[in-house]
Amino acid sequence: MKAEIIAVGTELLLGEVLNTNAQYLSSQCALLGIDVYHHVTVGDNHRRLESALQQARDRVDLVLVTGGIGPTADDITREAVASAWGRNLVVDPELLDSIKTYFCNRGVEMTHNNESQAMIPEGAFPLENSRGTAPGFYLADDVSAVACLPGPPGELRTMFFDVLVPLLRSRGHLPVSRLYSRDVLTAGIGESTVANILADIIEEQRDPTIGTYSNAGTVRLRLTTRAEDPEEAEKKLVPILEVILDRIGEFVYGYDDDSLAGSLGRELIEKGLTLSSAESCTGGLIARMLTDTPGSSEYFQGGVVPYSNEAKESLISVPKQLMIDHGAVSEEVARAMARGASEALGSDVAVAVTGVAGPGGGTEDKPVGTVCFGFSGPWGTDSERHFFSGDRSGVRRRSAVFALVGLRRRLAGLP
Ligand code: AMP
Ligand code: MG
Repeated sequence: MKAEIIAVGTELLLGEVLNTNAQYLSSQCALLGIDVYHHVTVGDNHRRLESALQQARDRVDLVLVTGGIGPTADDITREAVASAWGRNLVVDPELLDSIKTYFCNRGVEMTHNNESQAMIPEGAFPLENSRGTAPGFYLADDVSAVACLPGPPGELRTMFFDVLVPLLRSRGHLPVSRLYSRDVLTAGIGESTVANILADIIEEQRDPTIGTYSNAGTVRLRLTTRAEDPEEAEKKLVPILEVILDRIGEFVYGYDDDSLAGSLGRELIEKGLTLSSAESCTGGLIARMLTDTPGSSEYFQGGVVPYSNEAKESLISVPKQLMIDHGAVSEEVARAMARGASEALGSDVAVAVTGVAGPGGGTEDKPVGTVCFGFSGPWGTDSERHFFSGDRSGVRRRSAVFALVGLRRRLAGLP
């Protein structure tokens, strides 16, 4: 089934509102096995909307329209759809009742404008809006079907998922097969290395397909397959998954919605270890990532952000002379920070970061992007120095991810 998404609203064309509805609808259609061929955005203009609708009607099976079904004068979607599908707008008595009830329950006077929301094209099926007053509708003829959905993203999602999809399914308008995907999450290995190691299966891929997406030191591999049910999908995904785990399993920290910090947390719990952090250049990002995981208080003791040399000395006892001799951004200081954090916060394991996030502050031997990491734990205390490219926030984010990856690697080496 071919579909087109038409977003209606001048605010979208002016760049005032991001068209997240198109993204949401597209991602849902992909999962349902509906092929979206076009995205179109039109302002609140009857003539241009009608012509966009006519074009869509001629080239796809299902047109999804979002926006412009509210009660105000610029809400022209229902008229434009009615004209494009050659229908009159008529009052739906049930809709009128439910709109009246909505206002009555809230003790608010209903206006004539709201009455217009009870108008839908003749032969259309109303779609309930459980989160607002503007109902949607679905209209199908021999040429094409159209569903009009609200603009506010919350209302759109609820109506699409709870009302339209069940309706399409009950009428047999949904493809029997849909897409299933599994995300394999890796860290500590670059996207091009992953692509090289998996070159053969990426190149010969057909079903499942494999896509790689990198973000700040992590790489997500998305395996996607078309299947009629979860069991069939599993059968197709597992063999590829096994090849991937066999080749790069040591870098895999989780699947789908797992987080890197969460997987580190599981390792810590398993080994009965607690963690603390001392973050200079990441300014608390590591602590933030760790505490994003519910239940992290079980292993995360806390973190300090000793930004100045004085704070490094007073909070986590980094010797002043060490900073004079080697500079605050040095492996020596990173090691002292990790040891100091572990003592100050009483943890078994500690990670420390000190670096030059930029844009200023770089020198010839420590250019912007130079970051030193200290790791302290049952393996002793060690350090690493790395260079990250990118802007300030990119360097910070990569550093935080690198710190977590470094910890995972060290924990994996423990008995
Ligand atoms: P409307 O139903 O056209 O009156 O839209 C109501 C509000 O929903 C707009 O003011 C936007 O804030 C939001 N909205 C409309 N269309 C979209 C869209 N395509 N993506 C995200 N938000 C939208
Ligand atoms: Mg609008």
